[in-house]
Amino acid sequence: MNAKVWLIGAGPGDPELLTLKAVRALGEAQVVLIDDLVNPAVLEHCPHAHIIKVGKRGGCRSTPQAFIHRLMLRYARQGKVVARLKGGDPCIFGRGGEEAEWLANHGIQSEIVNGITAGLAGATNCGISLTHRGIARGVTLVTAHTQDDSSLNWDALARSGTTLVIYMGVSRLNDVQQGLLAGQMAASTPVAMIENASLPEQRECRSTLGTLLADAALFQLKSPAILVIGEVASAAESLRLPLEPVQKTLVG
Ligand code: SAH
Repeated sequence: MNAKVWLIGAGPGDPELLTLKAVRALGEAQVVLIDDLVNPAVLEHCPHAHIIKVGKRGGCRSTPQAFIHRLMLRYARQGKVVARLKGGDPCIFGRGGEEAEWLANHGIQSEIVNGITAGLAGATNCGISLTHRGIARGVTLVTAHTQDDSSLNWDALARSGTTLVIYMGVSRLNDVQQGLLAGQMAASTPVAMIENASLPEQRECRSTLGTLLADAALFQLKSPAILVIGEVASAAESLRLPLEPVQKTLVG
């Protein structure tokens, strides 16, 4: 039996950011379960596979995680090669680890294929070098949305000296701002809010920690978006990629 589940990172949206390994795994797949943050254009690499949409976006009609688990198991037990396509990287706020664990507990072999996570692609596409030497000593990937609604240690994040890349933050901008200001991060700290990173619809809004709420409202920031917070997020035109067409909007 060649049953296997590939847990594949499809990258942030631009289909050219798929890895060669992801393309190979998709080519082997007989059944593909696709999340709704995945660009369907990547399905050109599995023209003969049976495609099942299993979107789970917050606030939208969603497929329960338990149902996705059962689907993967059902097809794998039929001896099929299954690909689970996830946005960005499967293990960056993507439950890749949970799914691999669950499959192992049910005797199914799985393999995770890295994808380019939205935070990295969004920053690069806006000319932001996340760990620019002399400016940031590191980068911290953070979700603003926790399963149990527990609050983050904003004090530690504010003092970390690292660039903060915040996922799932659009509906939590107030928490982000208040948490970091209370942690003594300067209100003048540059912030970039990047929507639909790497897609033709990409938009970016440059702001500061003190003004991000008002700027995001004016800009009508929508999910999916990431926030890059730190000195590296001040405009860096020299690093900007010649990505076309990108709508660039500066607020404030
Ligand atoms: N595994 C994914 C993250 C899933 S969590 C990854 O590695 O990228 C979902 C969050 O990811 C969204 O709320 C948003 O913050 C971010 N996101 C995903 N795709 C995005 C995109 N194209 N542009 C901006 N943010 C994105």
